[in-house]
Amino acid sequence: MEVLRNYMNGQWSESKERNTIDVVNPANQKVLARVPFGANTVKDAEEAIDVAAVALEEWRNVPVMRRVQPLYKLKQLIEENVEEIARLITLECGKSYAESKAEMQRAIENIETACATPTLMQSEFSENIASGVDEFMIRQPIGVCACIAPFNFPGMIPFWFLPYAIACGNSFILKPSEKVPLTMMKVFELIDQLDLPKGLINLVHGGKESVDTLLDSPKVKAISFVGSTPIAQYIYQRGAANGKRVQAQGGAKNPVIVMPDADIEMTAKIIADSVYGCAGQRCLAASNIVTVGDSKGIAKEALVEAAKSKTTGFGMDEGIEMGPVITPDSKERIESLIAQGIQEGGSLVLDGRNANISGYESGNFVKPTILENVALDGDVIKTEIFGPVMSLLQMDTIDQAIDFVNGNNFGNMACLFTSSGLNARTFRNRANAGNIGINIGVAAPMAQFPFSGWNDSFFGDLHGQGRHAIEFFTQTKVVIERWPKEWTRKF
Ligand code: NAD
Repeated sequence: MEVLRNYMNGQWSESKERNTIDVVNPANQKVLARVPFGANTVKDAEEAIDVAAVALEEWRNVPVMRRVQPLYKLKQLIEENVEEIARLITLECGKSYAESKAEMQRAIENIETACATPTLMQSEFSENIASGVDEFMIRQPIGVCACIAPFNFPGMIPFWFLPYAIACGNSFILKPSEKVPLTMMKVFELIDQLDLPKGLINLVHGGKESVDTLLDSPKVKAISFVGSTPIAQYIYQRGAANGKRVQAQGGAKNPVIVMPDADIEMTAKIIADSVYGCAGQRCLAASNIVTVGDSKGIAKEALVEAAKSKTTGFGMDEGIEMGPVITPDSKERIESLIAQGIQEGGSLVLDGRNANISGYESGNFVKPTILENVALDGDVIKTEIFGPVMSLLQMDTIDQAIDFVNGNNFGNMACLFTSSGLNARTFRNRANAGNIGINIGVAAPMAQFPFSGWNDSFFGDLHGQGRHAIEFFTQTKVVIERWPKEWTRKF
């Protein structure tokens, strides 16, 4: 069985760590590879930091128009290899092949947006701030940057950061999730074909040990993290305490309001896609669905139909819309949260526990589940389930529903379904979340926009993607200049 190597200094190298953990196909528990995991990954991370620090010195002075050229090539290489990358995503992460391909489209869009860095990085100039004095601001690279990625979008999430960091003149270290390292192994085979200084883009495996090395090294200047809220908070605190710039995107519990004036049939399909897409393992998965007024009966019926229509199975099989969840532990946790929802007073409208998928009996499958009337003061209504579970709630007015949305500790996404412009405007103004959907079920910002989580869904100031990424990966320098005539005559 292959033990995965690191990619450092422009080549593949064996980890110093002999201990490994298995990379497993969640649909059938087949071991796909082994990934180094343990205390000696510290040495790997240290080596990656050292080579990245050296590469930085050359790269930061390469003109920005030249720095984006490898990104055009990378986009082309990813497009040529998208089937293979998508297959790997499905094998190690479980989502359907169509979802895996769509994920890579989002990665490509970030590369394209980063190709605009020569314009995005331009700065400001004020002539004559005083007589004969000019002032201007330039953006310079920040240094060695590191990204720590989660399991649920192994192909897309590193690209919220990597292309911008490189285009801005930084060097980069990626630590993929130990659960899904194969996707980035393939992407790094493509990165290896680019004409880049050795050590500019590196990949190290591992878990807490390699992450802590990145967080503690004075040579690393910026950390981009995506994952669960407790770890995001930890990364933010430890990185910031060490003087680094940190952006840490965390978990979510996304509410959706359905108004009686919404097109219920279309709404139900969109909501079901949001709740059950990627088996609910999306940070923008809808979770708490609030029907307002007399939308309840008809919406419930349509949602149950839409949920029942989802075909669950191995993501590479034809027609499969929903794959397994990532690990047996995850399946157990989701099923116990469903049971807890019932204990807390909820009732089960659709039970997806004990799913049996023919040919994949050992897979971590949970089928679409709907809980109704889960207690508002219980834990399940507030807990990120990260599985294919919808909680259906009923409220009388839009104000009550918005108050419920704003009682959420997270703030990744909130959506409203309506045909009223006034309802839409009220909601977008008042909702306490950073990504808002109006008649949209997965309000995922395009690459030009920041991925704007709020509250416990984000720790930091500047988000991933777009202009925020350019600001995150550069530091500003302000220059004030005076060239007095008298002095010029002297020389
Ligand atoms: P996770 O927090 O368990 O792991 C994320 C990364 O952190 C991994 O690379 C892991 O190796 C590392 N890590 C784990 N424990 C650590 C520790 N104690 N110290 C240092 N590093 C550690 O998250 P996950 O389960 O891989 O991903 C799912 C979570 O990510 C969900 O909560 C989901 O909502 C969230 N997520 C958020 C966004 C967003 O944009 N806000 C996007 C995708 C996923």
